Amino acid sequence: MRTVEEAQAAILELIRTLPAVRLPLLEAHLRVLAEDVAADMDVPPFDNSAVDGYAVLAEDTLGATSDSPITLRTLRDIPAGAMPTETITSGTAARIMTGAPVPHGATAIVMIEDTLQPMQPRGFQESTGGRGGTVVILEEARSGQHIRRAGGDVRRGEVVLFAGTYLRSAEIGMLATLGRTGVQCVRAPRVAIISTGDEVVAVEEGVVPPPGKIRNSNSLALAALVREAGAGLHSMHHIPDDLDATIAVLRECADPETGADVIVAAGGVSVGDRDFVKPALEAIGTLDLWRVAMKPGKPLAFGRIDDTLFFGLPGNPVSAQVTFELFVRPALRKMMGRADLLRSLVTATLTESVSHEPGRREYVRAVTVFESGTFNTTPTGAQDSNRQRSMTLANSLLILPQEAEDLPAGTDVEVLLLDF
Ligand code: AMP
Ligand code: MG
Repeated sequence: MRTVEEAQAAILELIRTLPAVRLPLLEAHLRVLAEDVAADMDVPPFDNSAVDGYAVLAEDTLGATSDSPITLRTLRDIPAGAMPTETITSGTAARIMTGAPVPHGATAIVMIEDTLQPMQPRGFQESTGGRGGTVVILEEARSGQHIRRAGGDVRRGEVVLFAGTYLRSAEIGMLATLGRTGVQCVRAPRVAIISTGDEVVAVEEGVVPPPGKIRNSNSLALAALVREAGAGLHSMHHIPDDLDATIAVLRECADPETGADVIVAAGGVSVGDRDFVKPALEAIGTLDLWRVAMKPGKPLAFGRIDDTLFFGLPGNPVSAQVTFELFVRPALRKMMGRADLLRSLVTATLTESVSHEPGRREYVRAVTVFESGTFNTTPTGAQDSNRQRSMTLANSLLILPQEAEDLPAGTDVEVLLLDF
C-alpha cells in the first residue's frame, strides 16, 4: 500500500496543466495567468502630487519655519483630473490635489498641514480657483518632496506580471492599471460528481428519508470542495449499486466531446460485493492507483478514462472530504496551473492525549490555534469516519505518523491547516 506522499506524487505526475482561455478580468480572479503582461504606458503616467498641498519651487521655501514663515502668491488651483495651465515661478505656488499633475516649474509639494491659508481676497469667485490669494509656508521643502514620478511604479514596456502568476485582488488591480479588461488564464477543470449507493437518497426539504435510507450529503460537500478549490462543476449524478449503471455514468462523464475533465465519485470503491466503482473503472479505463495507507480513507482509487481523470473516494463523508483534501484538491490545483498544491503544514502541540494504533497514518480532525507564539491543537472528539460533526468542528487535520503509538498531551505533531 502506498503512503500518502507516494500516492500524491503518483497522481500529480500524471496530471498536466490545462490550456489557456481568455477571461474577462474579474473572472480571472483566483486563476493563474497564462501570458506575460507588459505595461503599455508608464505608471503613474505623469509626475503627480502624493498629497494635498501646494506646488512650489523648493528654493523659495528655504529657511521657512512656523516662526519665520514665507508667503507665496497663489496661481490657479490644480484639481485631480485637470492639466495645469500655469507655470510656477519664483514667489508663486498653486494649490494641488493628491494625484493631480505637477505643474511646470514646481520642484516640490508642501503638505497642506505645513501651510496657512489666509482668507481669500474679497470677491473670490469659483472661476479664480484660488488665483490671486496667498499661502503661508511653515516648513522648508526638500527638492522632489511629495512628487510621484512618472514611471515610478512601472515603466512602459516592462513585463509586470508573468505567466504562472496566481491572480489575487492585487494582481487584478494591477491588470486594470495596465489597461487590460481580459487576460489569458489557465482554464479551470470541470468536475463531475458521482454519489453511489442504494441507500442514498436525494435531499428533499422537510422530507425524512424512508427506513434504511440516508440523505446524500457527499455530493453537496464535494461540490463545495470543488468550488473552494477554484474548479467548476460539470454535472452531478447518483448511481445505484449496479455495474452496468456505473459503467454507463462513467462513460457519459468521460465522453470526449461533452465529458468532464475530472470525475470524483464517492462510495462503492471498497471490496464489498456491492462496490462497483473499481470494476467499472477497470472495464472502461485504467486503474493507476488503489488504496493508500491512511485513516480515514484507505480505499482510494485513481485512474483515467481516456483524457478524463477519475478519483474514487470512500463513501463515508469524512473519508470522502479528507481524501478530497489530500488528493483531489492538489490535482485540481495542478490542472489550474497553481504552483502551491498542498495545504500549509505547521508543527503544533497536542493539548490532550490521542490514541493511535501503528499501521496507517491517521488524519485527526482538530482545532488548531496560534497562541503566544506556538500552535496548539485539540482533536474534535470521536473520530469515526461517519461522524460529519468531527469535520464541521475542525479547522485542521492533525497527523498521527504511521508508526506512532498513543501520544501524550504535549507531543509536537504536524497539522494541515484547512483554512489557509
Ligand atoms: P461505501 O464506501 O459505499 O461502502 O460507503 C461507506 C459509507 O458511506 C456507508 O455508510 C454509506 O452509507 C455512506 N455513504 C455513501 N455515500 C454517501 C453519500 N453520498 N452521502 C452520505 N453518506 C454516504
Ligand atoms: Mg456503497
